[in-house]
Amino acid sequence: MSTEYKKPLPATQPWSEEFWKAAKLHKLVIQTCKKCNTKIFYPRKFCPNCWSSDLGWSEATGKARVYTFTITMDMVEEKFKEDLPYALAIVELEEGIRMMTRIVDCKPEDVYIGMDVQVVFEDITDDYTLPFFKPATNG
Ligand SMILES: [Zn+2]
Repeated sequence: MSTEYKKPLPATQPWSEEFWKAAKLHKLVIQTCKKCNTKIFYPRKFCPNCWSSDLGWSEATGKARVYTFTITMDMVEEKFKEDLPYALAIVELEEGIRMMTRIVDCKPEDVYIGMDVQVVFEDITDDYTLPFFKPATNG
């Protein structure tokens, strides 16, 4: 990184550290309850389904579909203005969980509901990597 990263960094918690560590390695992992097999996002201390604290992680395929989105044109904090316009989306992973993210590597106006996307990683600092999604390349 040649320029200082000014946007907020992820606020990690002991129970979400694994998610960010994996992202750093360009892997998308999902917290999974070992007791009832519920996929959990965002990471928590307890399974929201059975309240078990016996939670593990499994790697996601990184394939997802745009569930809904909005194109952000304005009304953002100063530090995000250089990114405008951008597509802020909720994507549904193959594993069935939904994640808020940005759709990158395409024009915001080309994004549509139901669009196939795949995870892509952006190293924002030496310590943090953010998962975003880009249009899926088929084959
Ligand atoms: Zn559970």
